[in-house]
Amino acid sequence: MSQRVKVKQILQDEKTDYPVVVKGWIRSFRNNQFIALNDGSTNNNIQVVLDMDSVTPDLLKRLTTGAAISVSGQVIPSMGKGQRVEVKAIELEILGDCDPEKYPLQLKNRPSLEYLREIAHLRFRTNTFGAIFRLRHSLAFAVHKFFNERGFVYLHTPIITASDAEGAGEMFHVTSFDIKNPPLTESGEIDYKEDFFGRATNLTVSGQLEGELGAMAFGDIYTFGPTFRAENSNTARHLAEFWMIEPEMAFYDLEDNMNLAEAFIKSVIGYALENNKEDLEFLAQRLAEEEKQKPQQERSEMGLIEKLEFVLNNEFMRLTYTEAIDILKNSKPNKSKKFNYLIEDWGADLQSEHERYLVEKHFKKPVILTDYPKAIKAFYMKQNEDGKTVRAMDILFPGIGEIVGGSQREENYDKLVTRMQEMHLPVEEMSWYLDTRRFGTAPHAGFGLGFERLVLFVTGMGNIRDVIPFPRTPKSAEF
Ligand code: ATP
Ligand code: MG
Repeated sequence: MSQRVKVKQILQDEKTDYPVVVKGWIRSFRNNQFIALNDGSTNNNIQVVLDMDSVTPDLLKRLTTGAAISVSGQVIPSMGKGQRVEVKAIELEILGDCDPEKYPLQLKNRPSLEYLREIAHLRFRTNTFGAIFRLRHSLAFAVHKFFNERGFVYLHTPIITASDAEGAGEMFHVTSFDIKNPPLTESGEIDYKEDFFGRATNLTVSGQLEGELGAMAFGDIYTFGPTFRAENSNTARHLAEFWMIEPEMAFYDLEDNMNLAEAFIKSVIGYALENNKEDLEFLAQRLAEEEKQKPQQERSEMGLIEKLEFVLNNEFMRLTYTEAIDILKNSKPNKSKKFNYLIEDWGADLQSEHERYLVEKHFKKPVILTDYPKAIKAFYMKQNEDGKTVRAMDILFPGIGEIVGGSQREENYDKLVTRMQEMHLPVEEMSWYLDTRRFGTAPHAGFGLGFERLVLFVTGMGNIRDVIPFPRTPKSAEF
C-alpha cells in the first residue's frame, strides 16, 4: 500500500498520475460524488472523486461532514474549476462516522467566534482556527529560530516559584493542603512549613528574575513558557494563563535592548509572511469582511498583510514617557475629555486608551516608550540620573497596546537594595537574586513579550481568547 500523503503536499507538488493514500475529515460532499477532504495540513481541501457505480447506498449515507475517512486512489489532473489536481478514489474506508444531526460544524450556518469558543475542542476544524493555529506554530518556531541563530541559550525557568517577580501580587497559589482543613500555626495562620515545599508557593508571573541569573553566566538567554496571572481583567488582551518570551542579555543597555526587541518582532513577522502565505491570505480576507460591517471611520486603513509589511519595513517610533505625556496632554481626546482617564500630570500611568491614541492616531506606527517614572515601574529597573525615571521601555502596537515590557536592569547592589526596601520587598528572601549584583555584576537588560499578543497582531484577530487553543480567563477553564 502506498504511504499516506498530506493534502498540502499533494496540492503543492507539480506531478500528477501517481497512487496515494489520503486521510482526513470530510468538509463537504456534493452530487453523491465529490468529497472535499481536509487533513489540517492546509486550509485547502483535496477533492476526492468517487466512482458513482461502485458506491453503495449505505456508504453514501455515511459520507457526512466531519466523518474521518481513508482513501486510496490516483492523483489526476482535475477537470473542474478551483483545483489543479484531484484524487480519483479506488478504495474508501470510513474510519469514524459523524452524525450530521449532532455535529455542530455544518457548512450551512457559519458559527460565530463566540460560539466556537464554547466548542473550542472542535474549532480547530474550521478554516479560521486552522489558519490561526498553524500561524501560532510558525511564530513559535520563528522565536526559537531567531534566538538560536544569535547564540542565545533557551533556559527553562521554574513554573512553581516562591517569589513574586514583580511584587505585584495577582498570583495563583500552589499547595497540596486540603483547603478545607489546612494545618495552622499556634497563632491560627496557615502553616506553610507543613506544605509540600515547606513554604508558600505560587505559579510564576514571569521568568525574568531566574532569567537574569542565566544571563550572568551564558551572556544571552531567553525563556519561552507559560506564565500565570490571577488578575481579574476581563479584557480582549488578558489571559490568566499566557505564554511569554523573555530574553535577558548581559552587557546590553537600554538601546541594545530596544534594537533587539525591534529586530526580533520584525524577524518573526517576516517568517510568518514568508512561510504562512496561504493562511495569512485567508485571515486577511476574513478581516476585510469583518471590517466591512464597521462604520467607515472605524475601518482600518490597511489590510492585514499590508499592515504586517508596514511593520516590517518601518522603524518603530522611539520617544520618552515625558514626551508622550506632552503629546497626550495636548491631544484632542484629552482636551475634549474623551479619555476615560484624563492626563493631567507627569507621573500618570498610561492606560490602554492613551497607548492606542499614540500608536493608532498620532504616530500611526509601532511606538517604543522609554524612561518611565520609577513609581509606576518594577523595582529591578535601572534608575536614571534624574532620580525620577527608570530605563524602562514598552513597545506599543496598533490594535494591541502593550506588546513588550522591558528595561535595563539595576546592576548596582546598593541602589537595588535601597529600592527594594522602599517598595517593602523581602530583601533576605531574594538574596539569590541579589547575588548576581554581588558576584561580578554587569550591565544587563531584557524584555518580556506576550506571545498571544503577537499572535493577535499577526492573525488580525480581535480577542486573545481566539489565539490560544484553550483560553483560561476569569470564571472559565473549560477543556
Ligand atoms: P498590561 O498593562 O497589558 O496588563 P503588563 O504591564 O502587566 O501588561 P508585563 O508585566 O510587562 O505586562 O508583561 C510583559 C508582556 O506580557 C506584556 O507586554 C504583554 O505582552 C504580556 N502580558 C501581560 N499580561 C498579560 C495577560 N494577562 N495576558 C496576555 N498577555 C499578557
Ligand atoms: Mg498587567
